[in-house]
Amino acid sequence: MQIDAAVQRGLVLAVAEAIIAHANELTALDQAIGDGDHGINMKRGFEAVLADLDAIVAKPLPQALQAVGMALVMKVGGASGPLFGTLFLTLGKSLPERPTRADAEQALAAAIDAVKARGKSDVGAKTMLDALAPVLDAARAAGADWRARLPEVADAAVAATAPMKALRGRASFLGERSIGHVDPGARSVAVMVRAVCTA
Ligand code: ADP
Ligand code: MG
Repeated sequence: MQIDAAVQRGLVLAVAEAIIAHANELTALDQAIGDGDHGINMKRGFEAVLADLDAIVAKPLPQALQAVGMALVMKVGGASGPLFGTLFLTLGKSLPERPTRADAEQALAAAIDAVKARGKSDVGAKTMLDALAPVLDAARAAGADWRARLPEVADAAVAATAPMKALRGRASFLGERSIGHVDPGARSVAVMVRAVCTA
């Protein structure tokens, strides 16, 4: 996989712009089962990424991803800031400068494990992990059609969080009343996955 400076810029820009464009939707989802700040939080983080875009994309891929992670840790706040920050930081730490597809899958697996550890959580708790884990499984199973397949899997995984009862994060305070709403953090993952696969 050749990720040159232009591709790297396109990827970071696509993810940031997609999250910012979906901020209202993400906030509305968090109004239903949280405190209604998820879109605002994520938008603030990715606006900080955009403000520093030139410096971030001038770095080699691993350091660029770590810089995105640091910006998210510092700016997003809430529960999701440290968790999405950890995701990008670990992707950066795990990827070589010129990753193969196997490297990318391995890095995503390491990043998911880091999010699990940071959030003391796992799949099935109605969180971002319920979108991340199916996307990793699909990446491992997909053929050359991964660009079309991963966004579909992510969207289906988001929908599948609706019948779950939240066991982690603010939504868990609602107990049974969290059932019937999709998880905002999972939706953020799907927005990012579609942006990456499209870019
Ligand atoms: P807060 O809950 O502090 O207001 P946000 O609204 O920005 O933070 O983010 C909420 C999202 O964070 C949830 O939708 C969920 O996906 C994710 N989340 C919360 N707690 C955890 C956790 N322990 N592990 C993984 N993800 C979590
Ligand atoms: Mg919130």
